Amino acid sequence: MAQQKVSVVTGAAGFIASHLCDYLLAKGNRVIGLDNLNTGTLRNLEHINSDDFVFINMDITGFIEVPGPVDFVYHMACPASPIDYLQMPLHTLKVGAVGTRNAIGLSKWKRARFLLASTSEVYGDPEVHPQKEDYWGNVNPIGPRSVYDEAKRYAETTTMAYHRQQGLDTRIIRIFNTYGPRMRPFDGRAVPTFIRQALEDKHLTVFGDGSQTRSFCFVSDLVEGIYRVMMSDHHMPINLGNPSECTIRDLAELIIRLTGSKSDVIYQILPTDDPRRRRPDISLAKKLLDWEPTVPVEDGLNKTIDWFKEYLREVV
Ligand code: UDP
Repeated sequence: MAQQKVSVVTGAAGFIASHLCDYLLAKGNRVIGLDNLNTGTLRNLEHINSDDFVFINMDITGFIEVPGPVDFVYHMACPASPIDYLQMPLHTLKVGAVGTRNAIGLSKWKRARFLLASTSEVYGDPEVHPQKEDYWGNVNPIGPRSVYDEAKRYAETTTMAYHRQQGLDTRIIRIFNTYGPRMRPFDGRAVPTFIRQALEDKHLTVFGDGSQTRSFCFVSDLVEGIYRVMMSDHHMPINLGNPSECTIRDLAELIIRLTGSKSDVIYQILPTDDPRRRRPDISLAKKLLDWEPTVPVEDGLNKTIDWFKEYLREVV
C-alpha cells in the first residue's frame, strides 16, 4: 500500500484553507492544520472527526515546528479581506514576508513540496484584461491595499528565489475572488456582506456606482484547482478563478433575487485603489491541469445563502 501523504496547511481555520483540509482528508492525506485564530475560527474545523487531522494553534510569524515527516506544505495563511488587512497592515506585511519564509523553512527542513497561495491582487488595478500570468500588474506601492498586494508579491519573489537558488520544489497559485460557506458575515467582502444584508432586509451597500467587475469562483472549484496545481510539476504562477465576470451592481441584484429579499441597493464611496475590473485568463490552468470551474454562480450562491441562513440563526 502506498504510504499515507502528510500535508501541512497554514491558515487552516480560515475560509478557503478549511475547505482544503476537508478535501485533503477525503483524498486520504494526514493533515496538520496550523492557525493562530486571528481571522480564522475553530468553528470551520469542528465538523472534522478524523484521526488523520491534527490542529496546532500557532502563529507562523514565529518559528514553525511540526512533528514527523511532511510531504506537502500548503501556505494559505494571511489576512485576506480588505477590512482585515486595512486593520492589520503591519501584521499582513509580516505574514507575507516572515510567515512565508518560515513556511518555506518548514518545507526545506522536511524536504516537502511548497505551495504559495498568492492572489489576483498582484495585478493591482489591471491595465490588461483579462489577466494572464505573464502580466506584471499595476499596484500602487503606497496605497492602503498595498500591504496585502505587496506582501503577496514579495512572497512570490521569495518563493521563486528559493526555487532558483536552492532548488526548493515550489508552486504558486494566484487566487481570484472566491466565495462559499464559512466566509465571515462581517469580513467586509462583497458576497458575505450582500448576503447578510439581504437576509436581514437591510440595504445592500454597493461601493462607487457598482460598475466595477469581479469574477467569482465557488470554493469547491478552487480547492480542486489548488490540489491539481500541487500535483503538477509547474513552478511558475497559475491563475485559479472563475472567468465569468459580473459587475458588483449585478451581483447585488442577483443576491436580492436569490434570497427573495425586500432590500434595495444603496451606493457608498468607492474605497481607495479599488480595482476597476478583474477576470482571470485561465487558459494555463485548463491546458496544464485540465481544470476549470464547474459550479454555476447561481448554484454556488444558493449554497452559500443556505449556509448563511443557518449560521446567522445560530451564531449572530
Ligand atoms: N464591495 C461593495 N460593497 C461591499 C463590499 C465590497 O460594493 O459591501 C465592492 C468592492 O468595492 C469591490 C468589490 O465589491 O469593488 C469586491 O470587493 P471584495 O472586498 O469582495 O473583494 P476585492 O475588492 O478584494 O476583490
